[in-house]
Amino acid sequence: MLRSQVFHYPVINSMSQPLYFEVAIPTPLRRRFDYLPPADIAPHAAKDWQPGTLLHLPFGQQTLVGVLLAVKNHTQASADQLKPVLGRVEEQPAFTAELLELCLWAADYYQSPVGEALHTALPALLRQGEVAVLSGEQGYRLTQEGKGLPQGALKRAAKQARLLELLQEREWISRSELEALGLNPTHARALLQKGLIEEHQLRLSESASSGPLLREAPLPPSEEQAEALASIHLDRFEVSLLDGATGSGKTEIYLQTIAKVLESGRQALVLVPEIGLTPQTLARFQRRFALPVVALHSGLNDRERLQAWIKAREGEARIIIGTRSAIFTPLKNPGIIILDEEHDASFKQQDGFRYSARDLAVVRASRLNIPLILGSATPSLESLHNARTKRYQLLRLRRRAGNARPPSVQLVDLRRLALHDGFAPETLAAMATEISAGNQVLVFINRRGFAPTLECLDCGWLAQCNHCDARMTVHQQPRHLHCHHCDHQRPLPRRCPECHSSRLEPLGQGTERSETALRQAFPATPIIRVDRDSTRAKDSMDRLLQPVHQGQACILVGTQMLAKGHHFADVTLVVILDADAGLFSADFRGPERMGQLLLQVAGRAGRAEKPGRVILQSHHVDHPLVQTLMMQGYHPLAELLLNERHASQLPPFRYLALLRAESKRPELALEFLRLARQLAQQLCPSSPALHYLGPLPAAMERRGDRFRYLLQFNAAQRRPLQQLLSQLAQQLERQALARRVRWSIDVDPQEMN
Ligand code: ADP
Ligand code: ZN
Ligand code: ZN
Repeated sequence: MLRSQVFHYPVINSMSQPLYFEVAIPTPLRRRFDYLPPADIAPHAAKDWQPGTLLHLPFGQQTLVGVLLAVKNHTQASADQLKPVLGRVEEQPAFTAELLELCLWAADYYQSPVGEALHTALPALLRQGEVAVLSGEQGYRLTQEGKGLPQGALKRAAKQARLLELLQEREWISRSELEALGLNPTHARALLQKGLIEEHQLRLSESASSGPLLREAPLPPSEEQAEALASIHLDRFEVSLLDGATGSGKTEIYLQTIAKVLESGRQALVLVPEIGLTPQTLARFQRRFALPVVALHSGLNDRERLQAWIKAREGEARIIIGTRSAIFTPLKNPGIIILDEEHDASFKQQDGFRYSARDLAVVRASRLNIPLILGSATPSLESLHNARTKRYQLLRLRRRAGNARPPSVQLVDLRRLALHDGFAPETLAAMATEISAGNQVLVFINRRGFAPTLECLDCGWLAQCNHCDARMTVHQQPRHLHCHHCDHQRPLPRRCPECHSSRLEPLGQGTERSETALRQAFPATPIIRVDRDSTRAKDSMDRLLQPVHQGQACILVGTQMLAKGHHFADVTLVVILDADAGLFSADFRGPERMGQLLLQVAGRAGRAEKPGRVILQSHHVDHPLVQTLMMQGYHPLAELLLNERHASQLPPFRYLALLRAESKRPELALEFLRLARQLAQQLCPSSPALHYLGPLPAAMERRGDRFRYLLQFNAAQRRPLQQLLSQLAQQLERQALARRVRWSIDVDPQEMN
């Protein structure tokens, strides 16, 4: 077992032996620190402190919260370097043994400083040294005296009588419920003073301990669903890749599998992409299960987040749904992990501790010996490859659930067409037909703002960001130029800075421009724009989408925010304005991403009884990738791409890592990477099994006034790459140059720039 490997420290039987704490501290340094036990307690009292316990400790001039990793009786540090810790935050370790091991493994694998990795895994309040206590929900219940009261008592105080009655029915009512019931705290106070009720904190388990599991009956599974359900074994580790189109019934399989896990008294951890945790998704779980569903979404404040975390650790939360970082939720009785939309890039953290929640889900499930389901309509090439090589079991759903039929696809060739703000005439005609039939249309364009840039019609000048190698986006609401890479903003110029011409025109399409064009083309139809700008305010997404869910004829126009998590039952036509962006991407994952995104968007159409249609506009209708994707589907495209990856020695056939460096002075970053390459080659010379590429400029060389470069490692196997990276990181840390540039290591990078 891994446990004994990691925490094998000698049993300390002599009370006089010295005692040291090995501690992880949130610093960028890749090492562990030794401390003495607190000065005011006897050493033998400290020897039982558990790994995973949070400690207050002095570090330089500061006091920090660190994590105890081991108690030992030897140290390399000299006596004058050693300081005592100040004490523990609380007795119970914040990290369960299982979670601590997972984090240490991940810190190692992703070349992250241990302290940073552990801190990323903790709720913010624990990082700040708060104690993890479950506050429980405040509420009221009857006292003995209250219970003895005859029916119809307190006739003259109707509201108080109502509260008593409710308590007789339900035993407990939370404070927050009072208002919804037409009551307020004064009614409760009156009853408290009469001694008829008392305050009582409810722990979730009290409400969840008895009664039925399900609130709503499961749908009778289709033949395919039944087969998939029967293939998922709950008693051991096994990864199932549930590969089924949008609407094929994957979520129903999750729900029915979770029900079985709950029946056996265990917990289910469900991970969804960052923008996939919609109220709709949550509502579907809550409708199905009578047990509390705990959601770790971005709307929670730190306190709520901590409460949810504790409930999971104590086993009171039975179903936990969250985004990437929820993979670090402690679980008392783990039964299954489910990760939906497994191909989604948001499962990889792109800064700091650069872990992949999907890959860690595999590691965690394996260590816990529980099943993992990875679901997607467009699985990543990595997962498809794992299914091909039988590391994962492949479960395919080929048909749509219920009566829905797959959408039909039509390619519109944009070459030599006169466009109306990006729309081809036949696209507009098709939209008009749907709208007049009372249906909904979704227009997808993956660029927010009015237009990607501003152009001078006389000299060809384009609005560039002064701080990045990038163009500035034109925004109309409010009017300004905005760099989406460094956030720099400036007013729209009236004249061209080069030739002083006043003939400046927005170039290309963004969501704002499409919205404006559609308002002109369809003046009587509601146009709903969904992008980062229109959904900034809290709950604005729900408000915007309300008419859509009510089934009104309307046009939705938006970015990929529309592509995930939402179900639009009345959308019968999906228009993809410009499919070409991913075709010529500098990133080798570009075509894969394009395919996934287009399929996800297309999957919004025809979910229910109404058949759907997809129109894809392109300047490259003959491109083999476009042809394959739209005429044959995602899987033939994936085959094609996998063959290309194989030929060009890229993942999933090889393993990559990037060493990135950036600096305001380009020569420093470059020199750092040259040095890194030299050191690496001394440790491990170039060979077919491990080769180096770079230093190269990043796709956007300058961003926010920093110059960015990378060194790529490409290995046939994981382990030698791991060993090299960890030795290299140690050596780099000691270089003077390492303190003059910003650098980081990215293992299994998802973005190549
Ligand atoms: P996915 O998660 O693959 O997009 P869902 O599980 O959300 O698919 O199913 C799509 C739609 O089909 C939902 O409205 C769901 O209620 C319905 N559905 C799923 N399974 C069945 C079934 N066995 N019988 C009838 N309807 C089903
Ligand atoms: Zn000009
Ligand atoms: Zn910029």
